[in-house]
Amino acid sequence: MSEYKIKLTNLDRGSCESLFTIRESFFKDFSFSEITHSDIIVKCIASKKLEKISLAININGIIKNFLCDNCAENIHIPVISNSTFVIRQSENNDLNHDDILYVSSHDNFIDIKHLIYELITLAVPNKRSHRSISSESECNKDMEKLINKYSFREENKDADPRWEALKSLNLNK
Ligand SMILES: [Zn+2]
Repeated sequence: MSEYKIKLTNLDRGSCESLFTIRESFFKDFSFSEITHSDIIVKCIASKKLEKISLAININGIIKNFLCDNCAENIHIPVISNSTFVIRQSENNDLNHDDILYVSSHDNFIDIKHLIYELITLAVPNKRSHRSISSESECNKDMEKLINKYSFREENKDADPRWEALKSLNLNK
């Protein structure tokens, strides 16, 4: 049973706040996850107004051990996101709306483990490099040069047999 659950009962007396810390053990259930290490705090606030339950989810932290797009060194990527969902009780699982979460009317809680995973994934920027995360961080220049040289060789290997020869020389080293 997942520990990432939000209680939907007892909300009549205001809102209910839950905090989760997301570290590497969280990602073990997502075997295809590109993200494996993180230090993220997820703050969830469930509240009820006029019979409508809403859930605000705030994600704040860093993803660790991501490879820089340019130099392939490890970088830490900050992730921040704020989302609000409406929780509806319905037996129809086929319904699909981005901002509505459906739970069975028998359930007095909602499991948000998968939702947290999706929100973290969506918060990752498309560009993941030293330069894109901070103007002060620098790529490893030597690694960058090496990678550029290597990708040039890869692209041209069919066009020129000499590249093939060079490649095999490198492999035998
Ligand atoms: Zn870099």
